[in-house]
This record gives sequence, C-alpha cells and structure tokens, in this order.
Amino acid sequence: MQKQCCLHALRRPFLTGLALSLLVMILPFAALDEAPESPSSAPSAPALSSRPLAMASPVPAPTPAAPAPTLQPAPVLPAKNVDSKATVRVLLKDGVTVETLSLADYLWRVVAAEMPATFAPEALRAQAVCARTYVAARKRTGVHSAKGADVCAGSGCCTAYLDPKDAEQRWGAYTEAYSAIIREAVSDTDGIILTWEGDPIQAVFFSSAAGSTEDAETVWGYAIPYLVHVESPEGDEVPGYHSTVSLTPQEVQARALRAGLGADLSGPPSAWFQGLTRTAGGQVSALTLGGIALSGNAARNLFSLRSASFTVSWDGSAFVFSVTGYGHGVGMSQYGANALAEQGYSWQDIVFHYYTGVSLGTYPL
Ligand SMILES: [Zn+2]
Repeated sequence: MQKQCCLHALRRPFLTGLALSLLVMILPFAALDEAPESPSSAPSAPALSSRPLAMASPVPAPTPAAPAPTLQPAPVLPAKNVDSKATVRVLLKDGVTVETLSLADYLWRVVAAEMPATFAPEALRAQAVCARTYVAARKRTGVHSAKGADVCAGSGCCTAYLDPKDAEQRWGAYTEAYSAIIREAVSDTDGIILTWEGDPIQAVFFSSAAGSTEDAETVWGYAIPYLVHVESPEGDEVPGYHSTVSLTPQEVQARALRAGLGADLSGPPSAWFQGLTRTAGGQVSALTLGGIALSGNAARNLFSLRSASFTVSWDGSAFVFSVTGYGHGVGMSQYGANALAEQGYSWQDIVFHYYTGVSLGTYPL
C-alpha cells in the first residue's frame, strides 16, 4: 500500500532511531531476546533514554531480522478541560495592550492564523498541539514577562494570531464552518503538548520544505536533539512552492554593500558566487560572494528568498535564484503535515515524525 511504503520511507530515520533506542534498552535484558512488537510498559519513553539518531555516536547496526516496532503513538488520554482552565496573556500588536484569554481561545486564534481551515483535520490537530506546546515553552522562558505577557501576537516573534473579527472578514460565509473546524482541532487535543525529558519542546514549524526539513544546528547554529532533518512529502500542490528571484549585478552589489559584506565584486559576475555547499536536509549551508563566506540563511535574508533551498545561476544579464519551499525549514512543515494527514496519518504520527523522539505530555496548569 502506498501509505505503508510512504510510512516506511518517511520514518526510516525515526524507525532507525527507535530501533537503536530499543536495542539500548533491550541489551541489559538479553534473556528477552526478541524486541516486543511495541514497547509495552512506557511506549514513549525509550527515545528519551538514548541519544537521538543525529547525535548518536557509531553504534553497531541492529540485526536486520529484528522486527520494526509498530509506530502506534503512546495512548495518552486527552487531558480534560485543561485548555479552558489555563490562561494566556497575549501582548497585542500595539506592543502595549495585554489581553488575557483562555488557552482554548488563544489556540483558536493561532491555529486560525497559522493553517487554512481547509487543511485535513489531523494536520489542524497537529498544529494545535504545536501551538499549545509553543505557549508552554514561551511561558517558561518568560520572553515577554517584562510586559506582563506570556506571548505576543507577532508572527515574527511568537506565532501568527488571528482575531475572530478579522477571521470573519477573511472567511465571510464560511466563518461558522471554519470556526467550528478549528475549535474542534483544539478541543480534540485538549491539554496535550510535546515534551522532551519532561519539558515542553520548542515546537517550531514552517510552511513548506524542499523534500526534507533541516537540523536546528545548521539553521540556527545550535543543536536541539529533537529538531533534526526528516523527509517531508509536500510538493507542487503547495502554492508558490517554486519561486524565483532575479537580481542584476548592480542589485546584488547594492545589497552586499548595504550589508557591509566587503565582497570583492570586481571580477565578472559569472564568478561572483562560488563554493555552494548543502546541508544534509538540502538547504544551502554556505556559499561565497566575492570571496566572502555567507551561510545559506544569510543569503536567504540578503536576497529576500522564501527559503534557503535554492540554486543560483548567471544568465548573462542577471542572477537567477530558484527557490523551493517557504520558511526556515526546522521542525514541522505545515504543508508536509497536511500531505501526511491526507495520506491517512494521525496527528500523533505527524508530530512524532517531525519532532524526533519526543513524548506527549500535559500542559502545565
Ligand atoms: Zn513574541
């Protein structure tokens, strides 16, 4: 079946990681000699007890005969009425006003802003869990505590945020239907968050990937064990999946100057960009412009590209950047989540796919 093929392909890193984790757990109990079909006592625990795949030092491969564990998620019981009891203080876009909402109402605004209500229900549920986790992590770091808030309504800082009045304007005749869909995505996952070693994870997400997500380390410079690259199945169904940016040599020069790069652009333009290398996830990791090294992300920002998954060519009069996907590439791909949901995967499948080795937990009241 296509689903199983796809599951196998998509989950290979996760499966391998889980298999390695199981091996570590099982070795002390060699008398058991067969891995159980599913980790029975604490289904979500094994991944926490060992290093995730991307961090693993060389470990002997598990015997090929060992059956892969089933990937049914931990049977976490939905927490009851957590979202209605918890409150979130939101710093509004004016930078001054703080609005206190129930977590349920806040999550509605985030999910409504972050994902089209027409996405598959399991993708919307995955988004609700990510958004809830994000708030829990934000509360702990206290990033907006100086202004008496837990989060802000700015998508450049926290997450996007859609006021119900604006939603009504956007959705028109569909307001009631879309509103109910999003309310359900939130209430169906009431209180559930994603955790790593008991703490809420940094449940970052982005719009669409060029076949693979990215390691946090290659994009942000520091490793986060559950934010490692995995395959992502979206493609040409994503609006604006492929985009191009054309810049004349003068425009490139002006941007390099503005950024204070100190690039030597005296040679022919065809030789300005050199040494492009890629990350394991496929983004540009580095390139040089006039002899000055740039990270893929720095180039993305400098040339206003939708992602750091790009190629650059010189067509004789301009540089053409051909870009795939949109966003930073770390964590859950929203279009990837929708593609998985449409293939029949659950929200648990989706979040466990994109956040390697995490567990489910409950939002702290
Ligand atoms: Zn913020």
